[in-house]
Amino acid sequence: MSKHVVIIGGGVAGLEVAGQLAKVGINVSLIEKERKTGGNINNWFRLFPDRRRSSEVIEYLDKINSGKGIKLHTNTTIEKFNRGRSNFLMTTNEGKEMTADAVIVATGFDLFKSARKEEYGYGIYDNVISSADLETMFSNGKILLNDGNIPETIGLVHCVGSRDEKVGNFYCSKLCCVTAVKQAIELREFLPDSKVFCFYMDMRMGGAFYEELYREAQ
Ligand SMILES: Cc1cc2nc3c(=O)[nH]c(=O)nc-3n(C[C@H](O)[C@H](O)[C@H](O)COP(=O)(O)OP(=O)(O)OC[C@H]3O[C@@H](n4cnc5c(N)ncnc54)[C@H](O)[C@@H]3O)c2cc1C
Ligand code: SF4
Repeated sequence: MSKHVVIIGGGVAGLEVAGQLAKVGINVSLIEKERKTGGNINNWFRLFPDRRRSSEVIEYLDKINSGKGIKLHTNTTIEKFNRGRSNFLMTTNEGKEMTADAVIVATGFDLFKSARKEEYGYGIYDNVISSADLETMFSNGKILLNDGNIPETIGLVHCVGSRDEKVGNFYCSKLCCVTAVKQAIELREFLPDSKVFCFYMDMRMGGAFYEELYREAQ
């Protein structure tokens, strides 16, 4: 009999692994707590490294996952979880019971709360925004200061909340340098007369085609 895997989290990681498992004949139940899949990338405008729209990526993954072998449960969480002798037993918030041979947790991440780094003034000063806020501005098609004027000079501060002993995060997040580079390019496209500066410790371009994007930004 075909194996059954429960994946918790329908972001790009959960969607990708669901598609790969279904391809090799494994039945998948994909559990997503929100009403739609895609996770955090729903909030981003265009994606590095190839600047595709995030909606395009999610539509593509959703299409693959609408095929045989994958059952998607949106607005769903796992409320009870027990390990049996050779399987896992779960109950959803709607009282549905599930048995799985394996469980994959792909619940993703929450954004660092920028206000914790009060020295940068997020939540204190006007016009200090996070990279996620900037993605919202791109999606809305307007980059404006609080008073409605167009910014002339923009600084992108790297490593806010990462590589930082004071907040207890010693690690490098690996994706924010390339995010800043992508956003620098987009800022200049939206505001061709602006000056954009990146303030960084190192530029870490740790993925395929990230270095190319960095060169394009330069
Ligand atoms: C500002 C910014 C810009 C970025 N830009 C890019 C980019 O241009 N290109 C790129 O490749 N990457 C980009 N990234 C990184 C990208 O967002 C992540 O790599 C990606 O979202 C990780 O996907 P994930 O599925 O692991 O997690 P998530 O996107 O966090 O998805 C997790 C999913 O699990 C669900 N979930 C959580 N808990 C539960 C639960 N208990 N039960 C059920 N469901 C649950 C959530 O609702 C969510 O749908 C960016 C990141 C940031 C912060
Ligand atoms: S070095 Fe770059 S990728 Fe690493 S935490 Fe700092 S900004 Fe993020």
